[in-house]
Amino acid sequence: MSTDEQTPCPLRCASRSRTRYVLQRFTVRECGSCGFLYRDPPASEAAMEEMYDAPAYLESAYFREQRSHPETSEGPEVAIYREGVALLEHAIGGPAHLLDVGCGAGRFLALARERGWKAEGLEISRTHAREVGARLGLPIHHGHVEQLDLGRHFDAITMWDVLEHVRDPIEALSAARRHLVPGGALLVFTIDCSSLFNQLGHLLHRVGGRRASGTLELLYDEHHNWFFTDATLHRLVELGGFRVDDERHYRAHLRRWLAAIDPPWWLPAAEVVDYVSFGIGRAYRQLWILRPAVS
Ligand SMILES: [Zn+2]
Repeated sequence: MSTDEQTPCPLRCASRSRTRYVLQRFTVRECGSCGFLYRDPPASEAAMEEMYDAPAYLESAYFREQRSHPETSEGPEVAIYREGVALLEHAIGGPAHLLDVGCGAGRFLALARERGWKAEGLEISRTHAREVGARLGLPIHHGHVEQLDLGRHFDAITMWDVLEHVRDPIEALSAARRHLVPGGALLVFTIDCSSLFNQLGHLLHRVGGRRASGTLELLYDEHHNWFFTDATLHRLVELGGFRVDDERHYRAHLRRWLAAIDPPWWLPAAEVVDYVSFGIGRAYRQLWILRPAVS
């Protein structure tokens, strides 16, 4: 395994990083100290601006699935949204004022409003910001979360499938902390790269002579800069000025973002892995309720 020094650990470790995987589009590096996995090189600001308004992104299965259901419909994603917003209401005492960072097609915003929240969104995609603002009639701000400066505070901030995309995860959490009222709460929903999927992907990669497999190319998405595990997310949370109030894991529910895939047997096989992963405590997605740490 290569130990050449490239991009240093974004979690501010002093030790050297090493190459974990060489994929078709980028390298996944691993911090030699904390084990944090990250994309090298990270996507540039210009590349991100282009990426999140590209038709391939806007028309991806993830957003097509969001648009194909009325906001009030059920389904695994909406069930997780409902559980998450209920956890926030429990944490802060009921519906209040919320900012959804990376609001995408606006499905969570619509659900929060339906439950009595006053809601606003932040979105890097100009297309989504414009479309969701017009459709829901809610304030949708455009920009990167690290540069967030709205001059006011929120009772809750949510980041659904967002933290793995940002340019600087510590700055993203710090910006959220600056915009929370005392006693507020932050919800983070992201992938757990210590999941059974990732372990199997790693095994296939090893068996295949360390050549990147199709499974790894799927697991390490080009839109993601950071690949968290439970342990590295804990470290990040501390660096961002938060403490953990609650932590839960969820299945991947693959059909929500993989519409058609080759070979055709892959999806049924992956769904079996999805069920098993949850049963053994190695599920693909993690939801955290965070509170500002007392400094
Ligand atoms: Zn590190």
